[in-house]
Amino acid sequence: MILFLAGCTSEQSDQFDLVINNVNLIDGTGGPLQAGVSIGIIKGKIVAIDTTLLDNKKNRIDGTGKFLIPGLFDCHVHTSDFERDFPRFIHYGVTSIFITGGSLCTNDFYAAMCKQGNQDTIPAPIVFHTSQHFSMEGRHPSKTYSSSNWRDGESIFYLKDTIQIQRLVKEVSKYPIVGIKLTIEDGPAPPFVERIPQSFIDKTVKEASKYGLEVFAHISDNIELEMAINGGVQNLVHFTGVKIDPKDSIQMKLLKKFLERKPFWVTTLMIDKSFLYPIHPEWFESESMLGAYKESVKELDPSLVQRAKIYVGILMDEYGLTENSLEAFVLPQVTDIQFLDGMGFNMVLGTDTGNDFNFPGYSLHEEMQLLNLGRMKPLNIIKMGTLNAAKMMNAQDSLGSIEVGKIANMVLLDKSPLEDISNTLLINSVIKRGVIQERIKG
Ligand SMILES: [Zn+2]
Repeated sequence: MILFLAGCTSEQSDQFDLVINNVNLIDGTGGPLQAGVSIGIIKGKIVAIDTTLLDNKKNRIDGTGKFLIPGLFDCHVHTSDFERDFPRFIHYGVTSIFITGGSLCTNDFYAAMCKQGNQDTIPAPIVFHTSQHFSMEGRHPSKTYSSSNWRDGESIFYLKDTIQIQRLVKEVSKYPIVGIKLTIEDGPAPPFVERIPQSFIDKTVKEASKYGLEVFAHISDNIELEMAINGGVQNLVHFTGVKIDPKDSIQMKLLKKFLERKPFWVTTLMIDKSFLYPIHPEWFESESMLGAYKESVKELDPSLVQRAKIYVGILMDEYGLTENSLEAFVLPQVTDIQFLDGMGFNMVLGTDTGNDFNFPGYSLHEEMQLLNLGRMKPLNIIKMGTLNAAKMMNAQDSLGSIEVGKIANMVLLDKSPLEDISNTLLINSVIKRGVIQERIKG
């Protein structure tokens, strides 16, 4: 009888695959921190959130004094080598990424990345992606980031007329895309290329809607913002370059019209920081960065530093700046993002990683720090990188917050990110689908 009871107890005490006991929970919904919470996980899903300790003989983490946040999203990613980059995302707690095209992004390349994200042997984030770029020959990004990898009909679509758009949208709708990537922009720096015509934007949005698809537009200034809104675009994958003026009644009217669509707008402040990186060698000394990037930052190519100096000068002219500090570059944009957030826009974290000095995984934390530089509240910033992001991916039923029924993607932190946003880098463990992930050994 005693033996039977003992057996029964041991069975009961292993009812979860993993338990995190007595942790401070920041669930990603924007709600306040909940202290003394215990989380039970079975088969990769959160099945219990309790205020009493959960009994589990094995696989039990004592969360006392620690902080649990949902797995983070980077919603603007490019990669030329996902086998190298995916473990870096996981190392930094980024358990979901949104790939918005790229010169290698053929259907096969996208499928290979998704497959990697769906397996659990090698550390890799869950992958969401857009279609290939809808752009034109001699425009952004194939001209501005020229590479022989841009191949019309494979990794990019060179639009020639509006009739062709009907066929192309039908073609890409067969693949598991979140939406269509439409590149409106005139290039990141002078000499600028031409923007695509308004009629191409209008037609792409119209055709996409027939398949229940939304358009994710790449814009970089106020003219392109207006073109996107007037064309019916639902999501923007960049903020950088846009200037908001609350006193401009015409712009405010335009934004209110946009807001009715409940759009998502990705931040990408890291673009500006990445331009400044080579002239700030001290930024490379962060211990958290060296964990994963020791080799790649050891020696900085002098020609890159030279190029960066020239480019920073061009940008200062464009932005009308007299100094090249991070604050001068970023604070006006953070003020604008805060304003849009206050208006009710769904702001989402994204970095545009894949470009120089924009580091997979690490830079998402930099993006959060940049927003906090403008005094945006950590609780709100975390929501932008979790639940808001999952909503943009239309994956809010399974991802984006720590709630019963959702996939157990979580990051356990040693210190409170609400006290200091840079504490998101003090990562104790990364959990994807209920499994503690292997991190890079620094
Ligand atoms: Zn990009």
